Amino acid sequence: RSGRSAALRARMEERLLGARFRYLNQQLYTGSSQDAARLFRADPATFHLYHRGFERQVRRWPERPVQRIVRYLRRRPASLVVADFGCGDCTLAASVRNQVHCFDLVPLSPRVTVCDMAKVPLAAESVDVAVFCLALMGTNLQEILGEANRVLKLGGTLMVAEVASRFEDTRAFLKAMTQLGFRTVSKDLSSSYFYLLEFAKTGPARPGPAPGLRLRPCLYKRR
Ligand code: SAH
Repeated sequence: RSGRSAALRARMEERLLGARFRYLNQQLYTGSSQDAARLFRADPATFHLYHRGFERQVRRWPERPVQRIVRYLRRRPASLVVADFGCGDCTLAASVRNQVHCFDLVPLSPRVTVCDMAKVPLAAESVDVAVFCLALMGTNLQEILGEANRVLKLGGTLMVAEVASRFEDTRAFLKAMTQLGFRTVSKDLSSSYFYLLEFAKTGPARPGPAPGLRLRPCLYKRR
């Protein structure tokens, strides 16, 4: 009997966790990065809940996108300086020899510098590779990617791994990226889970609207 009620309680807790995760996730994808920063600052426990939910989702995928970025960096010189925007638990930094600046809202690891990714404490043109691995969450995409442009050296690499279903119009997105000062170097659209896009910085972001720069919110289904 007590075994059964423990199992029932565990199942209810799972459900509640799932529901809170989906709610938070929706907040993150439908607000700006500044809103996300306020949310997490006000309630750090929220962040840990978010991460448990995130882990549960990504575990179902055949491959973790961050592993693709690890493989990519291992093929390139370890002297390249990397900035990981929305680093989560710092798997990337822990898996490569490069110097990696890790940015997130709340520190899951001592390596993390806590900040809003739209405003990172790095000098202009100071990094070789900027990474957004499932981290383009705020609605202020132009501002966030503008910040990546600012910290990247000319010719530096921008890597984006993002949930495939978020792209409404990939061509329009890539075209908007050229306005933000990024040329497409390679794109892997073969996975139905996530796209992997590699860009090179061609120059500073040009001001003005970039209408194609849109991603759908990533809303997880209830399971
Ligand atoms: N890149 C990691 C984590 C992805 S989850 C991985 O691939 O495993 C997305 C991460 O972005 C979360 O850790 C979340 O806290 C962070 N994030 C969301 N909005 C942010 C913001 N405005 N500034 C900094 N980090 C943010």
